[in-house]
Amino acid sequence: MFIDSHCHIDGPEYDADREEVIARAREARVATMLNVGTGDPHTDAFERAVELAEKQEGIYAAIGVHPHDAKLFDIGAERRLIDVARQSKKVIAWGEIGLDYHYDHSPRDVQRDVFRRQLRIACEMDLPVVIHSREANDDTISIVRDELSGYAKEGAKYRERAGVLHCFGGSLAMASEAIELGFFISFAGNLTFKKAEDLRDVARRLPLDRLLIETDCPYLTPVPFRGRRNEPARVIETARCLAEIHGKELEEIGRVTSENFVRLFRLEL
Ligand SMILES: [Zn+2]
Ligand SMILES: [Zn+2]
Repeated sequence: MFIDSHCHIDGPEYDADREEVIARAREARVATMLNVGTGDPHTDAFERAVELAEKQEGIYAAIGVHPHDAKLFDIGAERRLIDVARQSKKVIAWGEIGLDYHYDHSPRDVQRDVFRRQLRIACEMDLPVVIHSREANDDTISIVRDELSGYAKEGAKYRERAGVLHCFGGSLAMASEAIELGFFISFAGNLTFKKAEDLRDVARRLPLDRLLIETDCPYLTPVPFRGRRNEPARVIETARCLAEIHGKELEEIGRVTSENFVRLFRLEL
């Protein structure tokens, strides 16, 4: 059993064959997926993600405003998303939220402000967060540290099962700090890329009980399928890579990363 901890199969890329994509995932024993809604929070982009989760067994939803769209976030968006999240038990996470200084689609100060606001919403709603961080490692960690420390249980320094750093591409130091803050680290298909030796080296040094796997599909198609549209069934390629790195059987990586997912999102599968 394998779990795709981050996919975007509610999007138009799958309108023509979504049912087949989901069927192929199940056939490949990827029966559980976290579909992450993205888009303009003033449209029905997030309702669409939740609808898919409501309709399909084993598909869960995350909702939250992506750093690219931070400039669209306001009190109206906030209320709308909180409403959507409350309406479905299938919404198990808030995200993806974070900072993207690579594309800078929203001004950085706006990204930081919206990231902070959504971290607070997630904590108030008792939902783990899905974090997207690109070329913004220091700011991501310092904001998370700052915002989450106030939500720790008595006796603990930080919030337990705080969330996941998705599509991890940072340093060992960043991953270790995030784990200390209660986070899990999720690897996507880019772990399998030929030039990703440094990232594999980071993955090798991290404890298996803190790792998740994902596709982030339709993006980041793993080797040997690069160049084609990605889909949840391909998460096995990232698991295979992780198995090689850690000297484990593929099945064990599937089991451990699935257990981690269930623990983080408090599911009963
Ligand atoms: Zn992302
Ligand atoms: Zn994503």
